[in-house]
Amino acid sequence: MTRLAERTGSINLGQGVPELPSPPEILGHAVAAIKAGRNQYPPATGLPELREAVADHRLATTGVSYRPDDEVLVTTGATEAVASALLAFCDPGDTVLTFDPCYDAYPAAARMAGARVTAAPLAVTTDGFVLDPDALRRAVGPRTRVLLLNSPHNPTGKVFTREELTQIAAVCEEHDLTVVTDEVYEHLVYDGVRHVSIASLPGMRERTLAISSAGKSLNVTGWKVGWACGPAPLVAAVASAKQFLTYASGTPFQVAVAAMLTSGMSGVSGLRDRLQENRDRLCEGLGKAGLPALPGQGGYFVQADVRPWGYDDGTRFCRELPGRSGVVAVPTSAFYQSAGSPDWLVRFSFCKGGDVVEEAVTRLVAAR
Ligand code: PMP
Repeated sequence: MTRLAERTGSINLGQGVPELPSPPEILGHAVAAIKAGRNQYPPATGLPELREAVADHRLATTGVSYRPDDEVLVTTGATEAVASALLAFCDPGDTVLTFDPCYDAYPAAARMAGARVTAAPLAVTTDGFVLDPDALRRAVGPRTRVLLLNSPHNPTGKVFTREELTQIAAVCEEHDLTVVTDEVYEHLVYDGVRHVSIASLPGMRERTLAISSAGKSLNVTGWKVGWACGPAPLVAAVASAKQFLTYASGTPFQVAVAAMLTSGMSGVSGLRDRLQENRDRLCEGLGKAGLPALPGQGGYFVQADVRPWGYDDGTRFCRELPGRSGVVAVPTSAFYQSAGSPDWLVRFSFCKGGDVVEEAVTRLVAAR
């Protein structure tokens, strides 16, 4: 779809590459760190100053306490944390349980670990995507080792509620599953909704590895600085897989991220406000264009229903949309592991400049 956007000169609301500016302070910290000579390997588990800043931040935002020395691991983005976790926790033939739809790196990482993915469908309702606890229970099998959760969720924008997380936690306790929770959009939550980490629910800290990304929270996706927090045995297992993937990366960026975490994450609330404005502008525009958006309170993406334009196949819609309107989206079916996806949904991203979103909306409304 990105190639299609380039070929047709369309506005690319397919890919989630952010175009909003990064906080100036973080750029200054990185430049200063580079100039100060902090350019060689950091420790494999990450700079101590960053691990400490992460532990403090996690305690402040989720109420869960981690020891910086052996319960926090800095990774090359959340992607490496997820891949290392699945390599660490799964044996060949095991199953990773996740939700349909899901971020496309998950099934790929599971396959690299020799595992397979089972996906419990989220139910599509007028309130957006909601947990179907029975479908989740039915999806657990004898070889299920890991539940891989993502909240706020890509590609739907869903933020799992405390009640849903409690139901998920019950399934994980019942079947003794290790939880890997990808919380990269933890700070990008709108409408006053609060992100809840499943690690903060009673009894869950000990079985949960929680993954974050400075890329999303501080709007520096190209830096690939992420981290994983969990009980020491889980973190040690993940660290031993990570050691032979990248060993370590991004020393000056780790310095800069630590400085931002320590100084209170300036810029995050501004980023959140801009994204919320963009989401509102996009959803309103999609409504005017006759492509109603499903509610979603987090992340970079919204889901739109393309049936009013006479399509029941989102892939065909996305192929034809650039020609009709000069805008690119991606079919949501691409994020499904099992048959039975709602083929009439497509994903639009709004992590762009406000003017870009405005222009995309104008084009969509004109193409109605
Ligand atoms: N998890 C999710 C749910 C994502 O949407 C993304 C980015 N698209 C990532 C992880 C990747 O994070 P990072 O860049 O820190 O590897």
